[in-house]
Amino acid sequence: MDTKLFYDQVDPAAILDRACYAVVGNPIGHSKSPWIHQRFAEQAAQEMYYGRMQPSVEQFNTNAQAFFQQGGHGLNVTVPFKLEACAFATQLTARAQLAGAVNTLWQEAGQIFGDNTDGLGLVSDLDAQGIELKGMKILILGAGGAARGVIGPLLAEGPATVMIANRSLGKAEQLVTLFAELAQSKGVAMIANSIEQLATQASSGTAHQFDLIINATAASLEAISPLSDQAAAQLFQPRTFAYDLVYGKLTPFMQQALKHGSRVSDGLGMLVEQAAAAFLIWRGGALSSAINPRLVLTELRHALA
Ligand code: NDP
Repeated sequence: MDTKLFYDQVDPAAILDRACYAVVGNPIGHSKSPWIHQRFAEQAAQEMYYGRMQPSVEQFNTNAQAFFQQGGHGLNVTVPFKLEACAFATQLTARAQLAGAVNTLWQEAGQIFGDNTDGLGLVSDLDAQGIELKGMKILILGAGGAARGVIGPLLAEGPATVMIANRSLGKAEQLVTLFAELAQSKGVAMIANSIEQLATQASSGTAHQFDLIINATAASLEAISPLSDQAAAQLFQPRTFAYDLVYGKLTPFMQQALKHGSRVSDGLGMLVEQAAAAFLIWRGGALSSAINPRLVLTELRHALA
């Protein structure tokens, strides 16, 4: 394996005779994935190397191809390459196909497989936090790549309703159309809305009530909430669980929810759980009892504090 493919300087001895993995994104310096996967490898006694790759936007295909041609075992994919990874894979799992985005690649029998474990990660984290999705009324804010990745696994849990509210209504409507068949097969009512309409409905007192509100927008990265304070006052109730996909900080969305007595969570647990799902795809499901994602999450929170 050409060590120049990696973002960090790598001692060739560190990857010699080891199964080789990496996370690929741009930028990638902040990624916690190497740390998380190293802890899983230690817990499950796996000899593997997990590095970072930061190709330019034009170089994704060339670098991913070189990685696999040189015997690389698997890649995790993050912003901005999830769509490229979807096109790069020669075989897609059903959930990756629906999501139209791939965060996990691996090589098997001459094919490059692509999966999307983001939604599985969210569902596992919610489950670990005692959230029973069956019968729930769910509001998803945002209709970008992250929302696309989580809708399928959320629908599979059989909630009562899923509303997708986005800044631009058209994208929310597209997602409702895309997932209509799956929603119908699970008996879930899906509704599209705009975030602006949510605020208007809140001011006229006709806002819907939700058990779970997921912030899958990128607004927290700009240190703002996608919800106006007025909409937040209507939507957040003491029985509401508010989940922000962004991790490592108390976001404005979470602060609004706390103000109205809701329980909150950031997305760090989702990050660890999606990594656990990728690790088990690569190293074998039999290792599920050998790894402990919740311990890794506690350790990671401690390391970030
Ligand atoms: P995309 O760029 O694909 O989509 C961004 C979404 O956010 C769009 O729906 C966009 O609306 C909306 N948006 C952006 N800014 C605002 C704003 N100021 N107010 C309201 N809506 C806004 O991003 P992703 O879907 O890939 O990622 C979304 C977030 O999820 C990111 O913060 C990312 O870090 C996080 N994430 C966390 C993961 C985890 O493991 N915890 C995994 C994956 C993602 P519009 O369509 O109108 O532009």
